Amino acid sequence: MKLHEYQSKNIFAKYGIPIPKGRVAATADEAKQIAKELGGRVVIKSQVLVGGRGKAGGIRLAKSADEAGEIASQILAMEIKSLPVRKVLVDEAANIETEIYLGITNDRAAQKPVMMASSAGGVEIEEVARQTPDKIIKVHIDPLLGLRDYQVRDIAAGIDLPREHWRLFGQIGRGLWLAYQECDATLAEINPLVITAENQLLAVDGKMLIDDNALFRQQALGEMRDLDVEAPSEIEARRYGVSFIKLDGNIGCMVNGAGLAMTTMDIIKLFGGEPANFLDIGGGASSEKVAAALRIILADANVKAVLFNIFGGITRCDEVARGILSALEEVKTNIPMVIRLVGTNAEEGRRMLSDADMVTAETLVDAAKKAVAMTKGG
Ligand code: GDP
Ligand code: MN
Repeated sequence: MKLHEYQSKNIFAKYGIPIPKGRVAATADEAKQIAKELGGRVVIKSQVLVGGRGKAGGIRLAKSADEAGEIASQILAMEIKSLPVRKVLVDEAANIETEIYLGITNDRAAQKPVMMASSAGGVEIEEVARQTPDKIIKVHIDPLLGLRDYQVRDIAAGIDLPREHWRLFGQIGRGLWLAYQECDATLAEINPLVITAENQLLAVDGKMLIDDNALFRQQALGEMRDLDVEAPSEIEARRYGVSFIKLDGNIGCMVNGAGLAMTTMDIIKLFGGEPANFLDIGGGASSEKVAAALRIILADANVKAVLFNIFGGITRCDEVARGILSALEEVKTNIPMVIRLVGTNAEEGRRMLSDADMVTAETLVDAAKKAVAMTKGG
C-alpha cells in the first residue's frame, strides 16, 4: 500500500526528520490561505500516487498567496497518468542547493533491509542505478541490531556529505530506519533530501510503501489507503477477505487455499488452458463470499469458463454446494462452470449440484479438462 507524500512526510517528522512547513489542501481557497500563513513563497505539489509529478506539471512554485491559489486550482483540475488530483500539498518553498537520495527497502537476496544513499538525488534511484551505479552507497541493516551509528557515518562519508551535516544526517538516518521498522514499511524514501541555501537539511519529498500483510497491526496506516489507485475488483476482494490477483487467461478460478489455488492454475496450464486469475476464498464458503468471489471473477470480460476447486475439510461440501447455488441465484450468468468438490460430504454436495444441472468433476484433472474444453466451445 502506497502512502501519499504528505502522509509519509508527516510520519517522517514524528521520527525527527526535518520537513518543510506546510499543509495539505483540497481547494484553491485553502491552498491560498495556507500560502498566506507561510509567507507567500510556496511550492504546490499534487498528491497523486504516481512518479514524475514534476514533469507532468504537478509541482509548481508560487511567489504569492494569490498565485498559490491560482496554481492550486489548476493542479486540482488535473489528472496525472489518469489519476485525479484531489489534494495538493502547500509547502514553504525551499532554496535548494544540493539534492541527495536516502532510502530504505528490503534486499530480498540479502534477506535484510538495505539503506541506500546517493549524491545524485532528485532523480529516480533506478535511473541512477542504470547510469552511475557507483554513485549509490548501500549498507545492509541487521533487523535485530538496527541501524548502527557507524553505518550512517559510512553513508555520509560515501556520498561526500560535508562534516557539518553529519550530526543531523545521523538523526535523519536513524529516524528513517525507525519509521521503516515501526510502520512495517517495504520502502521509506526521501528523494530529495536537500541542503538549502541556508545550509539546512530538509526532506523535500517523501514516499512510503506499507506491507499489506502488516495492515492488521497498522490500522491507522490502513485507514490512509487511497482507493483511487486500486482496481475495483481488488477493493471488492479485500472487503470480503478474498485473495485475488488478476491474470491474463480466460479460465476463472475459485479455490479455497493458496496452495490449492496455485496447483489449480498449474493443472489448467498443463491441459493447455490459461488461468484468468488467482483466487483464494479462504476458509468457509458462505454464499455471500462465494457470490462476491463470483462477481469479481465474472467482472473480467476475458473469462470464458469458471473452475471451482473446493476442498471440504472443516467446511462441509454440502454447505459449499448450497453456497454456490445460492450465489448463482444472485449472480446471473451464461458463463459455463465446472465444480470439483472433494472432502467431507462430497457426494452429497455433488448430487445437489448435479440436480441443479451443474457440471461437476471428481478429480482436478477431470475438472481442468472440462474447463479447457468449455473455453473452446466444447
Ligand atoms: P517527484 O517529482 O514526484 O519526485 O516530486 P519531488 O517532491 O521530488 O519534486 C521534484 C523536484 O521539484 C525536486 O527534485 C526539486 O528539484 C523540485 N522541488 C520540489 N520542492 C521544491 C521546493 O520547495 N523548491 C524548489 N526550488 N524546488 C523544489
Ligand atoms: Mn521525488
